Amino acid sequence: MTNAAAVKVPFVDLSLQHQPIAAEIEQAIQTTIQRGDFVLGKALSDFEAAFAQASGVQYGIGVASGTDAIALGLQACGIGAGDEVILPANTFVATLIGVLRAGATPILVDCEPETALIDLKAAHKAVNAKTKAILPVHLYGQMVSPHQLKEFAANHKLIIFEDAAQAHLAEREGYRAGSIGTAAAFSFYPSKNLGAYGDGGMIITSDPEVAKKARSIRNYGAPRKYFHSDLGTNSRLDTLQAAILNVKLPHLTSWNQQRLSAAQEYDRLLEPMRSLGIFPLQNQSSSGHIYHLYILRITANCPLSRDTLQAKLADFGIQTGIHYPLPCHLQPAYQPLGYKEGDFPVAEALTTEILSLPMYPGLSHTQVHDVVEALQAFVNTDSVAAIAG
Ligand SMILES: *Cc1c(COP(=O)(O)O)cnc(C)c1O
Repeated sequence: MTNAAAVKVPFVDLSLQHQPIAAEIEQAIQTTIQRGDFVLGKALSDFEAAFAQASGVQYGIGVASGTDAIALGLQACGIGAGDEVILPANTFVATLIGVLRAGATPILVDCEPETALIDLKAAHKAVNAKTKAILPVHLYGQMVSPHQLKEFAANHKLIIFEDAAQAHLAEREGYRAGSIGTAAAFSFYPSKNLGAYGDGGMIITSDPEVAKKARSIRNYGAPRKYFHSDLGTNSRLDTLQAAILNVKLPHLTSWNQQRLSAAQEYDRLLEPMRSLGIFPLQNQSSSGHIYHLYILRITANCPLSRDTLQAKLADFGIQTGIHYPLPCHLQPAYQPLGYKEGDFPVAEALTTEILSLPMYPGLSHTQVHDVVEALQAFVNTDSVAAIAG
């Protein structure tokens, strides 16, 4: 890119989170180094207990990444070869990778246009005798309805395994993310709502057997040293990362609230743009949405295309993203699954409309205002030009 504009509003700014807790983080790292328990150490078991409790479940099992949390978590639930798992086509590709790495067969379904969350009517049509689990993704920080999920799973006798990688401490209908079903997966990738200083993930569950199995699988399949009763691997959340996450966890509720507050300000300021074909995805869970991302839809009614608008914002110094530009079923690596363009029309249409606006704890209302003002200026100028012919 030539002459990239000075950044006025970044897409994320992680330094705002770090600065106020820098000394505490240093201390936590030093303590771990002095203890020397770098693998499966005290800070890890402390963090596992704290995160499980905060999420409303019994057990937490720290693993190397969110992707591993899905793969190993499904395996710990007894899901593998020959089992079908239903998941949305419009998710980050790691959801699909997790299912495939568990050895199960992924069955993709479409999403709802208002929320971009999995369409349970479509999921209903995908159920057959081989279906073992439904894997809802609490996309962008909003949970799929727990009541609807539970009813769906009960009707079809399915396991619910939640991908909560974008939904740390999200709430809906009295449930916390990760507490609806048999087990759930979280990611602590740095830019997630709760992020480590490297990779990390966790499986959470209230089922003691699933917890035991997950603990074994992440540690070479050994429930005790040098005795291997499970087909395992090496996937543990580093003690150093857990020590950092222990410092960050007490701030998570406040950080999530700051995101919500910025989102509410976006909602309020963007309302007049609805008539121009621009509006956000629906929040159906009020203050339980934790806004990992704030997603705007630039629909066909808007005088400017999404891509043009994104380019204009970039030139003006406002960073945005697209989550995600290509749904899983159209990714080259997964063509062998046999899906084709047109299979999931809602997911496919959304990829052309969605635009992720700057969103992070510490994003000020002034910055939100600047983003919306820039959007309005670009769209209005173009509307006037269109009318003028
Ligand atoms: C980030 C993410 C993952 C994968 O987590 P990693 O820690 O990057 O492996 C899985 N699913 C969703 C929805 C994610 O956003």
